[in-house]
Amino acid sequence: MKVLVINCGSSSLKYQVLDMEHENLLAKGLVERIGIEGSVITHTKIGAEDKWVNETPMPTHKEAIQQVLDAIIDKDHGVIASMDELGAVGHRVVHAGEKYAHSVLIDDDVIRALEDCIDLAPLHNPPNLLGIEACRELMPDTPMVAVFDTAFHQTMPPESYIYALPYEYYEKYGVRRYGFHGTSHKYVAQRAADILNVSLDDLKLITCHLGNGASVSAVKRGKCIDTSMGFTPLEGLVMGTRCGDIDPAIVEFIGQKENMTQAEVNQVLNKKSGVLGISGISSDFRDLEDAAEKGDERAQLALKVFAHKVRFYIGAYIAEMNGVDALVFTAGVGENDMGMRDIICNDLGNLGIKLDVVKNRVRGKETIISRDDSPVKIILIPTNEELMIARDTVEIVEGR
Ligand code: AMP
Repeated sequence: MKVLVINCGSSSLKYQVLDMEHENLLAKGLVERIGIEGSVITHTKIGAEDKWVNETPMPTHKEAIQQVLDAIIDKDHGVIASMDELGAVGHRVVHAGEKYAHSVLIDDDVIRALEDCIDLAPLHNPPNLLGIEACRELMPDTPMVAVFDTAFHQTMPPESYIYALPYEYYEKYGVRRYGFHGTSHKYVAQRAADILNVSLDDLKLITCHLGNGASVSAVKRGKCIDTSMGFTPLEGLVMGTRCGDIDPAIVEFIGQKENMTQAEVNQVLNKKSGVLGISGISSDFRDLEDAAEKGDERAQLALKVFAHKVRFYIGAYIAEMNGVDALVFTAGVGENDMGMRDIICNDLGNLGIKLDVVKNRVRGKETIISRDDSPVKIILIPTNEELMIARDTVEIVEGR
């Protein structure tokens, strides 16, 4: 079955077409500036030399999806002969609240349930829904599946997800920890089991998704039992521009001192904090490492604070699971930044975590980077959320 995977944001949209018979990627692309002047689609047919770029007005997500469909059936740049070849569409959806612990076939009830979750993800769920609606209009007969960022974390026990707030806020408004990046954590956990040739049911894993957004999960016997992101993706690790865990009293304090509204402080916590905030230089770890190497003390500090928080969660999750069999690194920083992996794993020998500094000199490749005598395996696994979405989509559509 050929599957179109859509990841729809407010003004941009990423897509891939996969042939799931052998899990081959056929094409991928990006639509930018939806609803803004200068809308453009950049389409890549895998194996072709050039990217195909088409600038054309796309006032809504419907025109954007139409451009995607035109690109994938185009006689020169396309990868399918007609729309009939497309067996299903898989949509990435950020938030399903407590409603779905698994991916689901999209119908009117699912759409209504996702609309009910808009309060929980006001920035993400509305564009996800726009993408779904546009696809349903343009491909009314093609089955569609929603795959949720929150679903994998729905196995967390209450002691992991309940905040110490008046319980009625959980009951009335769903204020609890949900966790995100679930598709990535699930994918790398499965791959880790494959690489180690051990059933997921027999493993305790800590999966570190370290990208611009970053989270760590404790995965015991294939089930997530804790994760660092919470009610929103702001909680947990220090990130590119997000602050992660802070004392909540800071919000009011900074608001008063800087004469900012709560919304303005929230914007600072999301967009101007993290390693960008500490360094004052960049949210990109490559820039920070360049600056740190040249002696910039705030860049050095930002990297240390980031690593400190990852280590903090690793320690916590080892305690929660009473041990760990493997530590997994994934996403932009986790896959590429050998220096950061080195700092995170430094001096954890008493916990059984021993990085091999030579094997660690690798980027973006699935490989074991721990020493042969390390009781805990350290594994680098490039994430592949689109493949995971396509797999779930095929499973659900074929099992209908
Ligand atoms: P992601 O959100 O997973 O796409 O990760 C993006 C982040 O990965 C960027 O902001 C960079 O900080 C980081 N990154 C990508 N490549 C490298 C690299 N070669 N070295 C260090 N950091 C990298």
